[in-house]
Amino acid sequence: MSESISVPDLEPGLTVFKVRVLLVDDQLIIVEAVRRMLSDQPDIEFHYVTDATMAARTAAQLQPTVILQDLVMPNVDGFELIKAYRDDPLLRAVPVIVLSSKEEPKLKAHSFAVGANDYLVKLPDKLELLARVRYHSSAHISRLQRDQAFRFLRESQKSLADANIELQKLAALDGLTGIANRRRFDDAMRVEWQRGQRDRQPLSLLMCDIDCFKMYNDSYGHLTGDLCLKKTAAVLTEHLKRPADLAARYGGEEFAIVLPDTALAGAMVVAEACVQHLRALAMEHPRAQPHGVVTMSVGVASVVPSPAGSVADLICEADRALYAAKRAGRNRACSAADLPA
Ligand code: GH3
Ligand code: MG
Ligand code: MG
Repeated sequence: MSESISVPDLEPGLTVFKVRVLLVDDQLIIVEAVRRMLSDQPDIEFHYVTDATMAARTAAQLQPTVILQDLVMPNVDGFELIKAYRDDPLLRAVPVIVLSSKEEPKLKAHSFAVGANDYLVKLPDKLELLARVRYHSSAHISRLQRDQAFRFLRESQKSLADANIELQKLAALDGLTGIANRRRFDDAMRVEWQRGQRDRQPLSLLMCDIDCFKMYNDSYGHLTGDLCLKKTAAVLTEHLKRPADLAARYGGEEFAIVLPDTALAGAMVVAEACVQHLRALAMEHPRAQPHGVVTMSVGVASVVPSPAGSVADLICEADRALYAAKRAGRNRACSAADLPA
């Protein structure tokens, strides 16, 4: 068997590939002769197999940079072995130099036909053997290095793309509440406006504002105020039903909910559910009377987008409805449709 069989270093990074020769020959005398020819070459590793039935497995494990292949061995036909290398994805590209006992055109032709890369008659002269071993090995090593470079390139492109997706996600999220931020809201409104216009479907917008939040902060401090904002964001998110629905932090203690393909009546149902849900959390807020708990007001507006209108108009309408809800006593949802023109 060979001197050492080690799986090649598959660690990423710059791999230094050594010239690694695998001789497949049943005759120990040939093994000894080849070993001697290569022994004073520090950059060449020499391995051998005398049992040809072990050749393919050993080669796959060892990943030589060149195989020196005998043709006539007990039980195994050298040509069949070369074909087997060529069918093995791990060995397909490894150069094979046939070491034949005869200089015969037919054998030579057949060797090349089954996939050999070179043909030498035993025993070749040391200079010639070294030159061929080095030539084929360095071609193979160049291919390995190129493949590795491509692999690294693909991997780094992939991780760059992943990092970009992650960055985009982060850039669209509000740091405190984890829901969509204002930028994502603006994008969604633009996209949904166009979609609604194309499909002639209504687009609804809810503007939500926590009631008396300044006093809540004043009473409990900003950290508790922040917690209240997180809980409110979670409430809003729970009432989204469709993938395109979006809850966003509009700014400060104001939130927005975008409901594509949703008419006013449906949007009011969501708005009222959110108002009730938040109140039901019963976050103490003694200065917010008459309930004494955190509540919010919601303004709802709905429109079938058209070139005559704009996103800004829809936001303005929802805002007007929100202020109507505040004026009417807070802790409620108001529809822009009920406002005087
Ligand atoms: P109204 O019922 O009319 O909405 O009264 P309000 O007190 O909620 O409204 P106002 O706009 O006067 O106050 C909003 C408060 O929200 C003031 C500000 O300190 C607080 N706020 C804005 N952003 C944050 C935040 O990120 N964290 C905390 N804790 N408070 C915030
Ligand atoms: Mg406000
Ligand atoms: Mg408020």
